[in-house]
Amino acid sequence: MAKKRIVIVGGGVAGVTAALFLGSQGVEVTLLERQETLVSGPPFCHLHAGGNLYREIDDEQCLTLLRQSIDFARLYPFVVDQRPTVIAVPTEDPGRAADLLRRLELLREAYARMAAEDPSRALLGEPSEYFRPFERSEMEALARRKPVERPQSAEEWMIPVARHLDLERVQYPLIQVREYGLNLFRLGAGAGLALEAMPNVTILRGTRLVDASWSEGGFRLRCDGGFCGELEAEYLINAAGFRTGEIDDLLGVREKRMVEFKAAYTSRWKEREALWPELIVHGERGTPRGMGQFTPYPAGYVQLHGMTTEITLTPDGLVASTETSSQPRLPEHFLEKIERGWSDAERDERTRRAIGHLARYLPDFSEAEVGGPPLFGAQQIPGEDPTLRVAEVAFPLPRYARCEIVKVSSATDMAREILQDLVRQGLIDGIAAEAPAQMPRIDIPPQALSRRAREIAASRGYPVEMADLCVGGGF
Ligand SMILES: Cc1cc2nc3c(=O)[nH]c(=O)nc-3n(C[C@H](O)[C@H](O)[C@H](O)COP(=O)(O)OP(=O)(O)OC[C@H]3O[C@@H](n4cnc5c(N)ncnc54)[C@H](O)[C@@H]3O)c2cc1C
Repeated sequence: MAKKRIVIVGGGVAGVTAALFLGSQGVEVTLLERQETLVSGPPFCHLHAGGNLYREIDDEQCLTLLRQSIDFARLYPFVVDQRPTVIAVPTEDPGRAADLLRRLELLREAYARMAAEDPSRALLGEPSEYFRPFERSEMEALARRKPVERPQSAEEWMIPVARHLDLERVQYPLIQVREYGLNLFRLGAGAGLALEAMPNVTILRGTRLVDASWSEGGFRLRCDGGFCGELEAEYLINAAGFRTGEIDDLLGVREKRMVEFKAAYTSRWKEREALWPELIVHGERGTPRGMGQFTPYPAGYVQLHGMTTEITLTPDGLVASTETSSQPRLPEHFLEKIERGWSDAERDERTRRAIGHLARYLPDFSEAEVGGPPLFGAQQIPGEDPTLRVAEVAFPLPRYARCEIVKVSSATDMAREILQDLVRQGLIDGIAAEAPAQMPRIDIPPQALSRRAREIAASRGYPVEMADLCVGGGF
């Protein structure tokens, strides 16, 4: 194996996943991250194992999300919270709940095929149980049952929803689907510990790439902060998230892309009974009836999204690149939030709106309170279609990989494509042709992982319980 220097800019999910794949192949990697901790970019809480939160995307994207999510869960089992998601379509919604079933059946068949071909991919349970519709009569019966401490069946998971959801305001069937939760603090912890244990991986935290140039011989990179000086790279991986275009601009690469700022909110519902599934109330994006998302964490914390401009979205939060720059320019007040955080007043106001948005369907939830800082950030969307949910990596110059994932589950396909490109470019040898398909093994003692995850949550001002799982991965 030749020792070639590969530099990755950005230690978000894309950057750390690329570093884990390359590092586990023995490749010498330097990872630059401008922040002090890894995986500090926009949040993620949902494993989109079928894309059922997005009625507007096509079947193909949903099938890709299913396959990629299973792969992601195999790489990072310690971030997966194995609780299901319940999808409700409100009575006033122009769509029909029954219309969701066609795609769910397609996904169930695809999952059954995957699980039959390779049983190690059957991470969503029995294929026949991938989703389960619930009619109103069943919900009324479940509403009379007491919640169980550790739900085992689809029916037991549904009890808290049946007891608190306004059953008049939703269409039937309600759907329960095996789209699990993800814990971002545990990903930062696990990936950080695994990379720190690899002698061939150097992590430069608090280090920002400020200039880059390219020639046939490779890349010259100037850095500022924790490491201040020049680096040379034979191969450059741009995993800079919503700032990907800044590096394109430095290298003279023109590309169309968008950047969107979004926020979710941290609430606490002290009286929450037992364990909850995630709850999605569908709605038209950008209107006052935009989708509501209720994501449970331990100790009564609930993360909330409301796809309205008053809650998660903002009127000026979606921007595009221009003729002269590949980097879309977000208005200054968003960059201010990303760099310095939110004012207490704005945090409280938007969190209360989010609570009210969900309380339209869960009346008891109006008792919830502000539980911590928002989970927020800007994400990149390559091209010109803001509904795109699957994207991985492009190679616009020789030896230059530009990562642009929209959902975290695309990170494993992205990393494999980069490994294949490195083999194609002759920069790594000595690995078998099928090696890029292999998954790195992350073996971290659970206690060390939980401790690091809690430290990360505390260092960012979040309740430490949000670094724990409600149920756990179990695979
Ligand atoms: C509100 C919200 C909710 C979301 N929910 C989900 C979800 O439930 N499920 C899901 O799959 N996805 C979700 N996403 C999308 C997900 O957050 C992103 O797809 C993912 O975080 C992108 O990872 P990344 O590594 O590409 O970018 P980032 O996480 O942004 O990483 C890029 C890193 O590069 C660093 N960097 C940038 N420039 C430089 C430089 N010049 N020098 C050094 N370092 C640099 C940054 O500091 C950053 O850490 C959500 C996004 C938002 C905004």
